[in-house]
Amino acid sequence: MIVGLPKEIKDNEYRVGLVPAGVRALTDAGHTVLVERGAGEGSGFEDSLYQRAGAKILDSADDVWAEAEMIVKVKEPIEPEYKRMREGQILFTYLHLAPDRELTRQLLERKVTGIAYETITDRHGHLPLLTPMSEVAGRMAVQIGAHYLEKMGGGRGVLLGGVPGVPAARVVILGGGVVGTNAAKIAVGMGAQVTIIDKDLDRLRELDDIFLSRITTLASNSYSIHEAISHADLIIGAVLIPGAAAPKLVTRSMLKDVPNGAVIIDVSVDQGGCIETTHPTTHSDPTYYVEGVLHYCVANMPGAVPRTSTFALTNATLPYALKLANLGFLKAISEDKGLRAGVNTYAGHITYQAVAESQNLPY
Ligand code: NAD
Repeated sequence: MIVGLPKEIKDNEYRVGLVPAGVRALTDAGHTVLVERGAGEGSGFEDSLYQRAGAKILDSADDVWAEAEMIVKVKEPIEPEYKRMREGQILFTYLHLAPDRELTRQLLERKVTGIAYETITDRHGHLPLLTPMSEVAGRMAVQIGAHYLEKMGGGRGVLLGGVPGVPAARVVILGGGVVGTNAAKIAVGMGAQVTIIDKDLDRLRELDDIFLSRITTLASNSYSIHEAISHADLIIGAVLIPGAAAPKLVTRSMLKDVPNGAVIIDVSVDQGGCIETTHPTTHSDPTYYVEGVLHYCVANMPGAVPRTSTFALTNATLPYALKLANLGFLKAISEDKGLRAGVNTYAGHITYQAVAESQNLPY
């Protein structure tokens, strides 16, 4: 199969769909890989590394899209890329089609086979291509929080780990899933006092087993959340109800009781956020204050560490890309139910129910 790797063109997006090791795996299996010149630069991969792994470097995105049977990307295509998509071409990337009518229309009209990273499932029904970015964002949440808690960062001037004779900072994590657990690991490692709040009691039991007595777990309800955040230095929003908007667990009026200069990192902002006062921000303008509490609500946090994120993402995506290239689309999805769940558009039809429902289109 001819596999194409274009450079990402979305604002501030420095990740790339394949690392040189992925190119090597594909070319070793007999496939051709076409890489747009400079595609890996943002993640620290020079063209020569791709060349050494067996790729052909092409000068323009147009050339890559025109020749490739399968395009491997990170972010959903944006307007300048629409016209490059071809009938029957496999597009393997994050798509997030539910709220994106125009991209859905383009994929259908151009009869593109759109396989979305975010809807591929594993044998437990989990979303294996979402997990790595949640791991990155969860770990980042604490280091970003620690930075903004410093006085120069705009926070209340608290050191997460404290020092002998001075209490460590209080970190409250709302949601103990992948983001929450990874945040807790870093916060515990830095010596903070960590509380994790989740509505799933079995999950709290697992967390209690993982962290032993190093964290406090609390069942999620408005009272326990209000109590916990009233003494918090750092609050991390990490809840998810799959496919739905995040529940607003912290109201604006609760914020009046949060210490001045405390910091909120609402990782769940991509699903609307779990703090009433959350609105999406960008890496170039990441923070704002409400009720004296600093809010950080960047929707693509892993974009700030593209090298780590690219490795983490491609570790998870490569086995699927290889399967598609080795077996061809139809055989690959007939053998792998989880990969089939990733197919959102095929031959001009929507093939993923939630996308069809969210746009009132036939399924
Ligand atoms: P997850 O499914 O692993 O965990 C979510 C947890 O929230 C679960 O344990 C669930 O029980 C809990 N939860 C649900 N409702 C709750 C409630 N009312 N009270 C308390 N807990 C509740 O999800 P995840 O992978 O950890 O992702 C969390 C969020 O972070 C998602 O919205 C995800 O898209 C987002 N995310 C954002 C970025 C970013 O850059 N901003 C990056 C990665 C992930």
